[in-house]
Amino acid sequence: MGLYQSVVRGVSQEMKQNSSLSLDNGSRVAVIGGGPAGSFFSYFLLHMASRVEISLQVDIYERREFSALGPVGCNMCAGVISESLVQSLSVEGIRLPADVVQRGINSFLLHTDRESVTMYAPFREMRIATTYRGGGPKGAADMKVKSFDEYILNLAVSKGAGAIKERVTDLSWDGQKPQVHTKGREPRTYDLIVGAVGVNSPSGGLFEKLDFGYRKPKARKTFNMEFAFGSEFVTNNLGNAMHAFLLNLPGLEFAALIPKDNFVTMCLIGDKMDGKFVDSFMQRPPVQKYLSSNDSHTAGTCSCSPYASLGNATQPFGDRVVLIGDSGMSRLNKDGIGSAYRTAKVAAVTALFRGISQRDFFEGYWPICKTIKWDNRFGRVIYAAVEVVKRSRLLSRGVVRMIKSEQQKLGKYRRMSMVLWDMFTGSAPYRDVFIRCLHPAFIGGYIRHIVSGSGSSSVEADRKEEVMEETTMGRLYHDGEVIIREGETGDCMYVIQSGQSEVIVTREGKEVTLSVLGEGDVFGEMALFQQQPRSATVRAKGDMRILTIDKRIFLRRVHEDPSFAYLILQKMSQRIRELDSEMARLKVEAGPGIES
Ligand SMILES: Cc1cc2nc3c(=O)[nH]c(=O)nc-3n(C[C@H](O)[C@H](O)[C@H](O)COP(=O)(O)OP(=O)(O)OC[C@H]3O[C@@H](n4cnc5c(N)ncnc54)[C@H](O)[C@@H]3O)c2cc1C
Repeated sequence: MGLYQSVVRGVSQEMKQNSSLSLDNGSRVAVIGGGPAGSFFSYFLLHMASRVEISLQVDIYERREFSALGPVGCNMCAGVISESLVQSLSVEGIRLPADVVQRGINSFLLHTDRESVTMYAPFREMRIATTYRGGGPKGAADMKVKSFDEYILNLAVSKGAGAIKERVTDLSWDGQKPQVHTKGREPRTYDLIVGAVGVNSPSGGLFEKLDFGYRKPKARKTFNMEFAFGSEFVTNNLGNAMHAFLLNLPGLEFAALIPKDNFVTMCLIGDKMDGKFVDSFMQRPPVQKYLSSNDSHTAGTCSCSPYASLGNATQPFGDRVVLIGDSGMSRLNKDGIGSAYRTAKVAAVTALFRGISQRDFFEGYWPICKTIKWDNRFGRVIYAAVEVVKRSRLLSRGVVRMIKSEQQKLGKYRRMSMVLWDMFTGSAPYRDVFIRCLHPAFIGGYIRHIVSGSGSSSVEADRKEEVMEETTMGRLYHDGEVIIREGETGDCMYVIQSGQSEVIVTREGKEVTLSVLGEGDVFGEMALFQQQPRSATVRAKGDMRILTIDKRIFLRRVHEDPSFAYLILQKMSQRIRELDSEMARLKVEAGPGIES
């Protein structure tokens, strides 16, 4: 057993001594729901259990066939995988394959009733992925779509989870332990049941019936529609940008056109999502500009009205039961899949290393739920403020003008752009966004742009699209291109998505190649811990693709889930080991007489 396993096992045993209920060799876990929350939970639980040599049986109950077309195979959402989730998964070693990613997104186009403006991703690379949750929209029969949910479910299965294609019809107690009922089968008893049932089925009620205090979160109806515009049209007219609409349409909290490969997804979230409301949105000039410019397919091919969680369940855990993802705690309006990942991972860490009693979940799992719950309160305040801005021509023009002037300068302080980027992408907590909005420089800049608003009120979008591959995350580097340079300072690290790079140091005017890195390797990580110049140059060896990991996103994840830091420590210790053996090899080659 390696040092990592011994340390983690020691910590886990110490924590478990304080808990009467725990997972041990042979324990049985039922995960109800194989959407992102259920699959991420199973994946991380089994991954970590194998590291500490605990053998578990994990059964995922999922009734959907994710490869089916239309809403039956789909967990009905816009399918945007946020910037922070793309980065977190990449560090976890999960890189979204090109056939799952419909399109990489590198920018946002913000449309008000009169103006449009582009906001680019902080690192000018593909940082957000658009995907389909199921096998694709109706009418996409000859299109290659690989479902995001199926991909994550398969990852869990590859770690040893069993996928049971059955609907859970009831839950009950068998003495102290929970039981799962499905049609035509004897009930099965488990040590732990995980609820990952989302908010689009009545299944939350099964957990309420178990009587440990759980109340499912409130939810509201939303609307999605798919337009079969064709790949060329999508690329030429929408590009690799999310189109978000800040329109004066009371009750509309979020509206976007999201480019996929050859479809465009329209997503509307708000309080009164009926047919009349959807029609009035689609008739607005900035929306019409896109929908009517494609003559043949203005009518959507596939639509659904799923429920969106309004955030907070009550008491999402008890002895031997925990609820995660939408059925537990979820971020309001944004990055629901990211919340599914966050809650799933922390619940898995708690169950494995702390225990599965109500108290264990209260101590290990509830803090992240509380963070999300509190953050949603800030979210509500922000959405209320946005509603005021949308109603005022002057205020919304001030927003557009401030972004325009920030995007034209390459300055460090892009306050409005970053506030809106983080809000639309869900990259930062609402609390952070809220605090940044109170900064005097933000308020001063905004007021200046409101009052200095002269000139044309119909400023065209200044979209300068860079040619990029569309289905891979990160940025393309060509042979010989330098990614980081020895001696320079930096505050981000990188994960190689594809291809190779060489790590070089210059000594006495000569370049020495220290190592060659490949897919999945990480470099530049020391900059996250120390403010020191880069210790080596990293250069592309052939064409390669790299994803930049933001320091702020990384540190936020570590704060919430300390096991995230182990991933980097592991990679650093592996690198030290490789350097040790390289030094030993050089010493042997140099012969006797060389001292270290
Ligand atoms: C209109 C809309 C747009 C959205 N867009 C985005 C977006 O772009 N990006 C983003 O990150 N989030 C988005 N979300 C939120 C996102 O969809 C959810 O947060 C996410 O799906 C939650 O994952 P989950 O696993 O908790 O639940 P779900 O994805 O709902 O999965 C629950 C699973 O449980 C299964 N299940 C339920 N009951 C049973 C049962 N009794 N037996 C067996 N299986 C069962 C279901 O079949 C389903 O597969 C959007 C939501 C809406 C409504």
